[in-house]
Amino acid sequence: MGMDVFGNNPTSEAGRYFGRNVWGWRPLAELVTELCPEETAACEQWQSNDGDGLDAAESEKLAMRLCGLLESGAVKAYCTNHAARLAKLPDEACLRCKGTGFRVSNPDIPCLQCGGSGKVAAFDRAYSVDEEDVKEFAAFLKACGGFAIC
Ligand SMILES: [Zn+2]
Repeated sequence: MGMDVFGNNPTSEAGRYFGRNVWGWRPLAELVTELCPEETAACEQWQSNDGDGLDAAESEKLAMRLCGLLESGAVKAYCTNHAARLAKLPDEACLRCKGTGFRVSNPDIPCLQCGGSGKVAAFDRAYSVDEEDVKEFAAFLKACGGFAIC
């Protein structure tokens, strides 16, 4: 499952398409809406694929704002904090063996999923975002001529 963001009227290759799987898109959309509340307000459905988006002027404004935040270090700070938050998430009980560390079908064999520990990394750790994602999205925004999230 993923998010496809299509440029409405691209002026270059970079503005045609921006794609992320759901683990990449969710934290990126959160970053963008949190750091740029004004510039992102015209699009209400950042987290669903209902075709919402921004028009050409709004996209360009958002691109400029993101570039400024990249330059000032605000994006880097956000990503560092986000990664630190994810790293602190406690491990979760392994669903496959229900936290026992052994196969349900054969309790003499360690669970393959968790290696016998009964614990796995928190599911939410998969939702990571970094500066490169933001740079790529800003380049898309600059050239997309408006976009729709599908
Ligand atoms: Zn397990």
